[in-house]
Amino acid sequence: MKAEDKHLKEEGQLFIVATPIGNLGDMTYRAVRTLQKVDLIAAEDTRVSSKLLSHYAISTPMLACHEHNETSVAKKIIEHLQAGRSVALISDAGTPLINDPGYRLVREIRKAGFSVVPVPGACSPVAALSACGLPTDQFTYVGFLPRGGRARGELISELEAAAHTHVLLESPRRLVKTLEDLCSSNMSGREACVARELTKLHETFVCGTLAEVALHFQEHAPRGEIVLLIGPAIEREATDDELITALSTPEMLALPPSKRAGSVAKACNVSKSRVYSLFLEMER
Ligand code: SAM
Repeated sequence: MKAEDKHLKEEGQLFIVATPIGNLGDMTYRAVRTLQKVDLIAAEDTRVSSKLLSHYAISTPMLACHEHNETSVAKKIIEHLQAGRSVALISDAGTPLINDPGYRLVREIRKAGFSVVPVPGACSPVAALSACGLPTDQFTYVGFLPRGGRARGELISELEAAAHTHVLLESPRRLVKTLEDLCSSNMSGREACVARELTKLHETFVCGTLAEVALHFQEHAPRGEIVLLIGPAIEREATDDELITALSTPEMLALPPSKRAGSVAKACNVSKSRVYSLFLEMER
């Protein structure tokens, strides 16, 4: 048995398998092996998944598992697991349960005492976040904004005050309206990015302030699948390296020490004492 197949040796497990979000090459080796080896694949839409399975010569039988039948499917899957069979869950694209069905199923399977094993891979919000250039030290995944009403207003107010990046999904039909709503809630100057058609031929990142991104999509009608990322309201504090770079420009080097520290502190919005002690360290 190969090392990467070790997790398959135990029977009676549910595997949560991520599949590509556009580029078929993003199917992991372990995902293919898992889908080949399990006894049954629970799929959000068996017609959609049959294309992926035939591409990878996977002939494992499928069972439909969507939002409306999750509870009854959970019962069937528990019977399979009790009989020592293993099962995989996949969605139409990306990581199951991330704005896709499966949450109730996973809970039921865990409650019944069986292991649930993730087989990680493509996930559009994470792919967008990893390449958009906004802070990633802390982020909130929002999914789709409510289409209207109080819930939408409340979420937008939360975004206004947010001190970290927010990751949203949006349909191309509603993107411009959402961007306009965000701009009219005091957020027009906020850093943002629209990540479109990730991993596909027409993958694009449109980055800038929310006002700039909104203008872009008012002029170029959005198409394809979209992740919208909104940067934090509060600017993060400059790092020591950034302050050292700011202190080392030719203009700054021409100034006396105290003035130099004062100018950099003002420009970077940090305390003068912090810049001055950095300056002393540099001199040493
Ligand atoms: N579970 C999926 C995942 O892990 O990416 C997300 C499923 S959610 C129902 C579908 C939404 O995800 C799309 O409407 C779009 O907002 C986003 N999405 C999926 N694939 C994408 C891609 N290739 N590029 C950009 N956004 C994508």
